[in-house]
Amino acid sequence: MAESPPARPGAALVTGASRGIGAAIARGLAADGWPVGVNYRSGRDGAGAVVAEIERDGGRAIALPGDVTDPVVPDQLFERLESHFELPVQVLVNNAGVSADNLSPSLTDEEWATVLDTNLTAAFRLTRRALKPMLKQRAGRIVNISSVVGLRANPGQSNYAAAKAGLISFTKTVAVEVARRGITVNAVAPGWIETDMTAEVSKDLLAAVPARRAGTPEDVAACVRFLVSDQAGYVTGAVLTVDGGLAA
Ligand code: NDP
Repeated sequence: MAESPPARPGAALVTGASRGIGAAIARGLAADGWPVGVNYRSGRDGAGAVVAEIERDGGRAIALPGDVTDPVVPDQLFERLESHFELPVQVLVNNAGVSADNLSPSLTDEEWATVLDTNLTAAFRLTRRALKPMLKQRAGRIVNISSVVGLRANPGQSNYAAAKAGLISFTKTVAVEVARRGITVNAVAPGWIETDMTAEVSKDLLAAVPARRAGTPEDVAACVRFLVSDQAGYVTGAVLTVDGGLAA
């Protein structure tokens, strides 16, 4: 019989968890014993299905609506999650992300702002909110979902690349600021992962991936589960690529 996961002293918040990578992370953390807040913006049914699946497997979860680009939402998400489980948030996974591709000469202000607001500014605000209690508890794990595009060029994605590279620099600096308080802050940089976000991308591009296949949301979730685990207590300020060798 499988060993049951340890009881956790806190809860985990995963942003953008109604589908794709975020949903896999939420399921994975719940399997590791974390009560999980499944944040979503518009995908109420998807988030509900993730919660139902976690509960069916014996875990605990709550769906939490909220557009992370709204400055009032971080407080709302933390307050709802903490009061529901009567536990502090000890894990934050900044996963919510969007892309709006265009070559730089044609990139609109709106495409720039949407991508920066969602992928970078929202992660900053949520991290700031998470750190307040984590600093008092002298414990906490923050994982930011960046991208290989934050490490190397990808034509047509200068807004997304700037946001994801910014997220890596943000991760490293915050990690150093809080390391002595027992909090780790790391980034995961996925390559090509099969989700709605990559549904329109030509499969011909897989030839550039050394592993010659796309990754799965569970491949990314496995990295997050490691970074959140007790075993990763000395890993901070790191960028873990999960890309079949694409950025090597
Ligand atoms: P999907 O498009 O499949 O899912 C995106 C998720 O983010 C959805 O749950 C969506 O919620 C949520 N979301 C988007 N905007 C907001 C917002 N303003 N507030 C709250 N939630 C929001 O994307 P992926 O699963 O593919 O991507 C997840 C993360 O991984 C992103 O940060 C992405 O940049 C990153 N990534 C993905 C790669 C890939 O190949 N797929 C590669 C590298 C990085 P809803 O549906 O409710 O609107």
